[in-house]
Amino acid sequence: MAQIIVKFGGSNLKSPADIERSARVAAAYQTPLVVVVSAFSGVTDALIRGIDEAILSEKAPDTLCSDLKEIHETALKLHIESEAERNSVRAVLQERLEQLKKLLVGIHYIGAVPDFTRDQIVSTGERLSAPIVAAVLRKEGLPAREILPETMGLLTDGAFGNAAADLTACAQRLPSILNPDITPVIPGFYGLTREGKIAIFGRGGSDYTAAVIARSIHAESLDLWKDVDGFLSGDPRIIPDSRTIPFVSYEEAAELSYFGAKVLHPRTVEPLEQDQIPIRVMNVEQFDGNIKPYTLVGPAKQGKPSLKSVAATEDIGIVRLEGPGVGSRPGILARATAGLDAAGINISSVITSQTSINLLFRKKDLSRALAVLRSESVPSVVAVEHFEDIAIIAAVGDGLRHTPGLASQVFGALAEGGINVLLTQAGASPVAMYVIVKKEDKARALRAIHKTIHRG
Ligand code: ADP
Ligand code: ASP
Ligand code: MG
Repeated sequence: MAQIIVKFGGSNLKSPADIERSARVAAAYQTPLVVVVSAFSGVTDALIRGIDEAILSEKAPDTLCSDLKEIHETALKLHIESEAERNSVRAVLQERLEQLKKLLVGIHYIGAVPDFTRDQIVSTGERLSAPIVAAVLRKEGLPAREILPETMGLLTDGAFGNAAADLTACAQRLPSILNPDITPVIPGFYGLTREGKIAIFGRGGSDYTAAVIARSIHAESLDLWKDVDGFLSGDPRIIPDSRTIPFVSYEEAAELSYFGAKVLHPRTVEPLEQDQIPIRVMNVEQFDGNIKPYTLVGPAKQGKPSLKSVAATEDIGIVRLEGPGVGSRPGILARATAGLDAAGINISSVITSQTSINLLFRKKDLSRALAVLRSESVPSVVAVEHFEDIAIIAAVGDGLRHTPGLASQVFGALAEGGINVLLTQAGASPVAMYVIVKKEDKARALRAIHKTIHRG
């Protein structure tokens, strides 16, 4: 029988008491599972802050490690009665916390943090939660055993901070290790470089780990347990009346998560599309003993085209190359982007007009991109501008490119709300269109477009 991959994220592990609920969920499946876990809520953020603090202060590593020890010790005491079991998990945690402290002290004395060390530190939260979750699952009667990505050989492309898995290597290595007679519990968020160093998949990366494993062992489904009623028509923190979307295609999910819907790591669907492995999004807060999906993510279905969801991110900046005819003369874009390519800078999107080429970058790459583009002498370009205080909004729905009226639904909503659109792109994706607005207009724009979703 094919296994199901079950992922519990930080949203399921907010307080030490939450672990037991996740364990009850896992026990309710009555089918072979592979469990992927994130760090306890807030732990990854604390580790990221801890790096900066450790560089400045000699005491910071001690403080962080004792805080983390306390959080995890509380969970152990709460859930594990057997002294022997507690001691054996405690020994593993102790060793990992000592390792963390050594790394933090090391960066304090060096005064800098190499990329590979950063990823090792930031991924520690998952190596602290996994042994505890495994112990709690054993208490629920499951044959759970922690298996580290290091042991499985979960190979990546080695891009620290934002790695992608080597799916071919994973498909060769993982099946023999993830035996259906046990319930493997795997710390998510990272894999290994060819040299055996840890490389993380970017924030929210446990969803992606779970997808990589699902693909590698031909899982029946990938079940993501969250704290909301599935994939919603908008971020509930900005749009309180957002509603559950029962079905989302892979392409829609990819566009939404790429441009901001935090519920899914942006690359989660990539490993799943080829074998059409479904994602089921569940709500741990509503768990009543039944495995009930709120949203199914799978291959596109025929249906009435409509707008389904909106998402936005401020993690975007624009470099605009201006000059007469730059958008239509051959070779200019290639020339402009060659330098970026050489510098390893990823372009998120390109929007051209007759007189400008707008290159979109993630904020972390913006200043480097600007420097590269200012240093190139690109023919016909007379000015290089940049814009930061902006947000990109994605309006998503299958059929958007081919259905007259859907784009005007978006623009009509923005005009009605008096929101100025700085730039727009439609047609590049068959399921999404993008508008760029000022950062301060983001929430109003999202709500205005969202209102039309249910009006139809
Ligand atoms: P986990 O830690 O389990 O991976 P996340 O916090 O990363 O969970 O993702 C769940 C959160 O995503 C929700 O609590 C919600 O606030 C946020 N979110 C943003 N956009 C959406 C959306 N379109 N649908 C559902 N949740 C969303
Ligand atoms: N713990 C990591 C993060 O906070 C990975 C994850 O939650 O999926 O980004
Ligand atoms: Mg997440």
